[in-house]
Amino acid sequence: MSTDARPHVRSHELHQRASRCTPGGVHSNVRLPGPRIFFERADGAWLRSVDGHDYVDYLLGQGPNFLGHAPAAVLAAVNDACQDGVIFGGQHEIEVQAAELVCETLGWPDMVRFGVSGTEAVQAAFRLARAVTGRTKIIRFEGHYHGWLDNVLMAPDGDGWGTASAGQLASHLDDVVVLPWNDADRLADALASGGDQVAAVIMEPVMINAGVIEPLPGYLERVRELCTLHGVVLIFDEVLSGFRLGLGGAAGRYGVAPDLATYAKALAAGWPVAALAGRADLMERFGTGEVNHSGTFNGSVVATAAVKASLERLRDDPPYAAIEEHGTALMAGIRELGETHGVPLRAAGLAAAFHVSFGDADVVDYRSLQRLDLARYEQFADKLIDNGVWVAPRGVWYVSACHGPAELDAALTRFGKTLAEWL
Ligand code: PLP
Repeated sequence: MSTDARPHVRSHELHQRASRCTPGGVHSNVRLPGPRIFFERADGAWLRSVDGHDYVDYLLGQGPNFLGHAPAAVLAAVNDACQDGVIFGGQHEIEVQAAELVCETLGWPDMVRFGVSGTEAVQAAFRLARAVTGRTKIIRFEGHYHGWLDNVLMAPDGDGWGTASAGQLASHLDDVVVLPWNDADRLADALASGGDQVAAVIMEPVMINAGVIEPLPGYLERVRELCTLHGVVLIFDEVLSGFRLGLGGAAGRYGVAPDLATYAKALAAGWPVAALAGRADLMERFGTGEVNHSGTFNGSVVATAAVKASLERLRDDPPYAAIEEHGTALMAGIRELGETHGVPLRAAGLAAAFHVSFGDADVVDYRSLQRLDLARYEQFADKLIDNGVWVAPRGVWYVSACHGPAELDAALTRFGKTLAEWL
């Protein structure tokens, strides 16, 4: 529980109750660390706990609330659309509208399949890549997160990477090769020696999950060339970067189109929807039935109405310039607070998603990220939450369309107070 000086009596009671019927009192292990705070409402960029405390939110539900909490236009669109039914075991026109909009908005893909979680979308991409190439191996990169299933969940293990959970079959990692990211020569070497066995290369095109690290200039272009040269399917996992880094996601921002890409979080403003998008010659394999991709809840009216309303909002009233301004000012303000208090505080990344930590190092990949004092920041994040800034212990901050001057002021004031108390 929190060490917060403010009382959390009701949260504590609910947590005790929850722990009797739900393991750990939470429904996702990502929520096991940190204070077990229960919220009763959220509005824009603010959260209110059941104990009456407010928090300015830079976690955004781990990213999805890109339009802020409970965005009126999306709520209304989903509510309207659901009045006439939610799931038919058949199709509804809104699915077509949402799929067309995803392809148009992103620009590069021809087709899209909707699902429910990013984890699943990644698995569908792997299956498709293996079917298309007739190969088995997947190349992935240190520190990138692609969901919680056996073939993608990995933790540092000595000098390599291994399973990360009891019960996870190590054999599911047999076909996975893990390389350092942002090093095109390492990928070139791996593909030169065994490229004929590699079905896909998957990466977060900006490594948001670990440090919000951008690709080095030319890296994505070189990866693209290498994949084309070796007949390997390039998958961008844009579950976090998609629609957040601009309408075209990371592919649009850096001007490199993958063959397949996964989307989720900012796609539907908090509603549970994921998408796999890609070139028609690949995606059509699902349509012929040769490759199976299924799901009872895929493309439901709830999901696709949320996608449609979210993307219409992003297209018609883009929040990107305001987010750029807010995120840039917030990073600068955090750095300034570090200077004022004489601590090496690092705030780096992109305005819509950035990373805060103690320490100072050139960070280009997962290993160099470890040179920062990440453990110290984790402790600090606990105190920051106590002072009313809702953040992730791993240092990633997300900015939404609803963060404005009042939130900037609140965040920096509370950050400064926390530093003063903590140091
Ligand atoms: N891929 C990336 C890049 C993610 O950040 C996540 C979740 O954080 C996933 C995949 C898994 O998505 P989900 O949690 O919806 O299963």
